[in-house]
Amino acid sequence: MEVLVIGGGLAGTEAALTLASLGYNVLLTEMRPVSMTPAHRTSKLAELVCSNSLGSLSTDNAKGELLHELEVLGSRLVRLAKRCRIPGDKALVVDRELFADLVEAEIDNEPRIKVVRREETSVPTASFAIFAPGPLASDALLNFVLQAENLSEAHFYDATSPTLVADTIDFDYAFWGNRFGEGEDYLNIPMTKEQYFWFVDELIAARNAPRHDFDKVESFFERCLPVEEIARRGKDSLAYGPMRPTGLNIPSKFKDVYAVIQLRKENAEGTLLNMVGFQTGVSHSDQLRIFRQLPALRHAEFARLGQLHRNTFVPGLVNRSLQSKTNPRWFYAGQFVGTEGYLEAIAGGLWAAMNLDRMINGLPPASLPEETIMGGLFRYIEEVLPVVKQPIGANWGLVPVPTVRKSDRKQERKRRAQEAVSSALRGLGKPSKGI
Ligand SMILES: Cc1cc2nc3c(=O)[nH]c(=O)nc-3n(C[C@H](O)[C@H](O)[C@H](O)COP(=O)(O)OP(=O)(O)OC[C@H]3O[C@@H](n4cnc5c(N)ncnc54)[C@H](O)[C@@H]3O)c2cc1C
Repeated sequence: MEVLVIGGGLAGTEAALTLASLGYNVLLTEMRPVSMTPAHRTSKLAELVCSNSLGSLSTDNAKGELLHELEVLGSRLVRLAKRCRIPGDKALVVDRELFADLVEAEIDNEPRIKVVRREETSVPTASFAIFAPGPLASDALLNFVLQAENLSEAHFYDATSPTLVADTIDFDYAFWGNRFGEGEDYLNIPMTKEQYFWFVDELIAARNAPRHDFDKVESFFERCLPVEEIARRGKDSLAYGPMRPTGLNIPSKFKDVYAVIQLRKENAEGTLLNMVGFQTGVSHSDQLRIFRQLPALRHAEFARLGQLHRNTFVPGLVNRSLQSKTNPRWFYAGQFVGTEGYLEAIAGGLWAAMNLDRMINGLPPASLPEETIMGGLFRYIEEVLPVVKQPIGANWGLVPVPTVRKSDRKQERKRRAQEAVSSALRGLGKPSKGI
């Protein structure tokens, strides 16, 4: 029997690989390069559309805990991500090209997975399918799903941050160093107070890029705001946010540093640097004009400028097993169901595939305790998202507060989540061999 997986992004490739490991034949359909999305640059599977960080490696952090849970549950994409890790302080930062190459090679080497490049616009009701078309799902497929599921979509805006060609930066006006720690993974472009307020004024006054495919509604995902939007909310907001200079060992030649722009290597060679937390929807000509007035960037070449994109999800689509509420043979995963973030998309792909397997084998859906980040995340998708219509990424607010002293809560949340995911794994039993 064959399972159709729609979308060769993070959720879709993880789902396809998990299904293949479970013994299923998979038809993975990806519309690129036949039809491109506004954010993807390549035709590669598992392309990271913006940052090349998969979040913290520390399980003190909810993203780090999610990473741990994915490893325990056997995520193949997380294993590949760790193979192409590049320095990024405490975060799992990957060489984006290599990551996509490794995922493609892993899929090519799976005899059970067939990849077809086509835009999927409808799916027969009787097919076993995992839909993972992402936040930039094609209109035809989005409309098909909305009609089939009798629902309406929601959306917000998400932006990408600029990437620069490293050797076009003037390093006399910048310095390497990590916040609060050893290492030189980040390049910092310092600004005095005067430069900073000039920069903020320029961002606020800049023109937005034309938004041909958007309506007038402006709603942003709060944890991924464009810098110009942060600046509009208060002139000092950036200096206390992504541009904060705290924890940096600033060389003495830079006086009165009030803020910094941080850049991080995008590939192992370090030939490309990405501005960290600097997503922007300012028009390309204004980005070039503003950035090139900074001495360090006077002659900088931009491999990619920031862009704002509509980001679509469908509240109320699935239960916590990621199964459609109307068709038991259909599962959904990734940003399309309302999770936010790379790792969260991978988690969705894994979870949908595991539950599809259980459904085919006549088993009840797997459940993950609500003490785990994945358990809390998918409970939110089923219970809270249809009401609040705000997507969510991994955070500790998704799990119940432990009933221990306040000072012990952090440790207890972590201990409890790790114990719960290990025992849940034991409860899931032996993997299926497909049909
Ligand atoms: C502009 C932007 C920037 C983002 N930046 C970040 C970031 O920096 N960090 C972060 O953690 N998250 C970020 N996200 C959020 C999210 O983590 C990513 O979008 C992530 O790639 C979602 O994974 P996915 O598998 O759901 O979707 P995707 O990775 O987008 O994969 C979906 C795939 O489905 C394909 N597809 C769509 N429709 C069809 C169809 N009809 N038929 C066949 N194939 C189809 C697409 O081409 C795509 O390859 C960003 C999102 C956007 C929109």
